[in-house]
Amino acid sequence: MAEIILPEVELNINSPKDPAEATLVENFVCTAENSPNIIRHLTFDISGTDLVGKFRVGQSIGVLAPGEDHRGKPHKLRLYSVSSPSNGEGGNSHLVSTTVKRAMDEVDGTFYMGVCSNYLCNLKVGDKLKVTGPSGRRYLLPENSEDFNYVFFATGTGIAPFRGMIIELLESGFKGQVALVFGCPYRTDVIYPKFFTEMAEKYDNFHYIKMISREDRRADGSKYYVQTAIEDRAETLDPILSQDNTLIYLCGMKGMETGIYHNLAKKGFMDYLLLKDGLEDKAPADWSWEEAKNLVKPSSRTFEEVY
Ligand SMILES: Cc1cc2nc3c(=O)[nH]c(=O)nc-3n(C[C@H](O)[C@H](O)[C@H](O)COP(=O)(O)OP(=O)(O)OC[C@H]3O[C@@H](n4cnc5c(N)ncnc54)[C@H](O)[C@@H]3O)c2cc1C
Repeated sequence: MAEIILPEVELNINSPKDPAEATLVENFVCTAENSPNIIRHLTFDISGTDLVGKFRVGQSIGVLAPGEDHRGKPHKLRLYSVSSPSNGEGGNSHLVSTTVKRAMDEVDGTFYMGVCSNYLCNLKVGDKLKVTGPSGRRYLLPENSEDFNYVFFATGTGIAPFRGMIIELLESGFKGQVALVFGCPYRTDVIYPKFFTEMAEKYDNFHYIKMISREDRRADGSKYYVQTAIEDRAETLDPILSQDNTLIYLCGMKGMETGIYHNLAKKGFMDYLLLKDGLEDKAPADWSWEEAKNLVKPSSRTFEEVY
């Protein structure tokens, strides 16, 4: 396999002590309108700041919500994955996009709204906001991206970096194979459905796989998850995963990695994984969830961003 050459990136050009001012230029729902998991696509104009042209796909942008927390301290920075390609949204280096889920929770009868995600989702075109970054040194496409194939696994807003990566790869004439496995509870929660469907129609080397966990059932009655695609969509994924120049990226909910690594191991795709002492002599089918969680790590061919 070719050496994976990661690009040099500039980090934290603007820090929380010295944030840049951006202007919101786009804010729309990018799931079905009736999805209870409201997710919005936002684009920031960073013209006139030192950040122009500096965000690479895979990196994150920091946002400082106004106001104070319950201790009277300014709200801490929140990170959001960039969902535009490295040359900017629509090829405009002064435009950076992200994909934001409104966070909310009910605990013991009290309803809590996430501070920053709801602040962002409520912004109107023309509003100003404080941003920082870029953040993230390793979760990047290689500089020699054309030397590899890619399998992307996303849950929820973990789709953000893959939107940018897929635009970046396919629109520049990439000839390898790219598969996107996206998991969500209901069909209405699919993020950017039109965009990815159209990309799959346009590019024969792009394979778009949706795993809907709470509507459909597998033959044995179990649920479809991103990790079950390794078995359920083997006809598409096996030929890509079995090539020795394929890289895996996963992004989304913390915990998603365990099932993916376990199922890769069960199918014998060990090059994507590093096993800690104690697992080498045990068949993957016999691993417990705890063992898969604690003793399996990503190899250099696997890129993981979970939060
Ligand atoms: C590298 C990275 C990339 C990320 N990329 C994205 C992305 O692309 N898109 C995205 O949407 N997010 C992303 N995130 C997550 C994001 O940074 C925030 O964590 C997320 O938006 C929630 O922040 P918040 O300020 O809205 O919620 P917070 O105010 O931090 O609250 C977090 C959760 O706790 C609940 N809560 C608040 N107060 C209480 C309380 N007192 N008791 C119980 N529960 C409470 C809230 O309802 C909410 O669900 C990323 C994180 C990382 C680390």
